[in-house]
Amino acid sequence: MLQTSVKPHSQPDPGYSDEALGHYCGLAGIRSRHEADVSRDLFYMLFAQQHRGQEACGIAWDAAGRVMVDKRLGMVSGSAERWLGSPVRSKAGIGHVRYATHGGGGIANAQPLAVSCIKGELALGHNGNLSNGGAIRSALFQQGAIFQTTSDSELFLHRISRSPKQGLEETLRDALSGVEGAYSLAMLWDGALIAARDPMGFRPLHLARRDDTWYVASETCALRALGILSWREIEPGECVVIDDTGPRSFFLPPAQKKARCIFELIYFARPDSYIFGRSVYGSRKALGAAIADLDELKPDVVIPVPDSGTLAAMGYSERSGVPFAMGLTRNHYAGRSFILPNKGERELAVRMKLHAVEEVVNGKCVVIVDDSLVRGTTSGIIVRLLKEAGAKEVHLRLSSPELKWPCYYGIDIPTREELISNSLDEKGIAEHIGADSVRFLPVAATRACLNAPNGEYCCACFDGNHPCQLKDC
Ligand code: AMP
Repeated sequence: MLQTSVKPHSQPDPGYSDEALGHYCGLAGIRSRHEADVSRDLFYMLFAQQHRGQEACGIAWDAAGRVMVDKRLGMVSGSAERWLGSPVRSKAGIGHVRYATHGGGGIANAQPLAVSCIKGELALGHNGNLSNGGAIRSALFQQGAIFQTTSDSELFLHRISRSPKQGLEETLRDALSGVEGAYSLAMLWDGALIAARDPMGFRPLHLARRDDTWYVASETCALRALGILSWREIEPGECVVIDDTGPRSFFLPPAQKKARCIFELIYFARPDSYIFGRSVYGSRKALGAAIADLDELKPDVVIPVPDSGTLAAMGYSERSGVPFAMGLTRNHYAGRSFILPNKGERELAVRMKLHAVEEVVNGKCVVIVDDSLVRGTTSGIIVRLLKEAGAKEVHLRLSSPELKWPCYYGIDIPTREELISNSLDEKGIAEHIGADSVRFLPVAATRACLNAPNGEYCCACFDGNHPCQLKDC
C-alpha cells in the first residue's frame, strides 16, 4: 500500500483558472466505532460511482489523528491491488472520483485534498462548483495565500484554516458562510467524518448506517454496492459530523430556494440510484413518456442512443406503443467523446463508439431518443449512421429542453456559442444534422414530470435562471 502523508504539491498556481470549471465528481465516506477495512469499502463505493468521474480517484483515512492519502490518475480499478490487496484499517476514511474538463486534470487536482494547518490535519473531497470561487480565490490570493491546485475545492481548506472561530461546528459555519454555489463535501477532521451539503442542495449526498458504521455517498448505488439498502438524503444546508458518539447534525442558514440539479436526473446519475428522493430510472422513463405524449409521429420503431437515452426510449415506447429496439450498439471500450477538445476528434470518437444495426432500422421510420443535445456532434453522426444502414426517416427526440446556458455549478457545458440550441431552432438543427425532425421536451413538461414545483430544481442550463451568479473577482 502506497501511503503518502500530507505533503504540499509543488505546482504553484498564479490565480483562478477556467480549468477549475466543470467537475461533477463522486464522494464516499465511512466512519466506524471500530477499526475496519476502510480502503476496501471505499474502493467498492467509488467503483460504483465511476460514472461520476474517470480522470482521477483517491482515498484518505485517519491514522491515529494523522491524515493519510493515496490518489492517482485514472480509473478506480487501477487501485484495486492497493486498496483491496492489503486493506487500510481505520475508523474513518473518505474517497473521491474526479471528472475533469478540458485540461483540468492532473494529479495536483486529484482529491481528496489533504493539508496540515492550524486547525489540524484535514482531508476534503468536493463535488460541485462554486459560483463565487473566482472571487474567493482572488481575495485569498491578495492576502498571500498559496494555492496548490486550480480547483476551487481548495478554497474550503483555506477558509477553514483562516477562520478565527474555534471548534469544529463554529469553524465550519464560518468557513462556509459566504461560499456560493454547489458543494457536497466529505471531510476528515480530528478523526471525525463530516458530510455537508450546500443550502440550495445542488448536488446529491446520502447518509446510511450499518451496525456501528456510517456511510456517506453521492449516489445510493454506492451504498447498494455494499449491500446497504436504506439511507436518507443529507438535507440541503445540513452538516453531519460523525465520530465515536455517532452522527449529529447542524444546519447552515437556509437558502431562499432549493436548486437541485435537474441534469443529475436527466443524464448524470446512475439509473439504479435514487437522487433527490426520486428513482433515476423512473424519472428517465417518465421523461421519455412525456416526449411521446407531445409527439404526433407514428414511427415504426423507437431506438435509444445507448446508454444515456435508453430509459427515455423505453418510456416513449411504453407510452406510445411503438416497438423498442436497440438500433445502435455501443462499443464499451471506447473512451469519452464529449470531453475531446476539437470537433474532428469528437467525431472520430463517436464513430468508434456507436454503430447502427441494419436489421433494426433498414427501411424503417425511426425515432431516436437521446437525453440531451449539446453541440450536436453525436446526433449528426448518428443520423448519418442510421441513414447509411437504410433508415427511411430519422426523427431525433430529446428527453430534456434545449441547452442554452453555461452551468456554474459543476456540469460540463461548453460556451454559449458552442451550444447548438443558441444558434439554431428545432427545424434548423434538423437540417444541420440531416434528421427529418428534432423535438425537445419543453422546460415546463420536464419539471412537471419530475414533480417539481417551480424553483425546486436548478434548470439554469435550460432557462438561464441561475440561482446564484458567477462572481469572478
Ligand atoms: P453533443 O454531441 O455535443 O451534442 O453531446 C450530446 C451527447 O453528450 C449526449 O449523448 C449526452 O448524453 C452527452 N452529454 C450531455 N452532457 C454531457 C456532459 N456534461 N458530459 C458528458 N456527456 C454529456
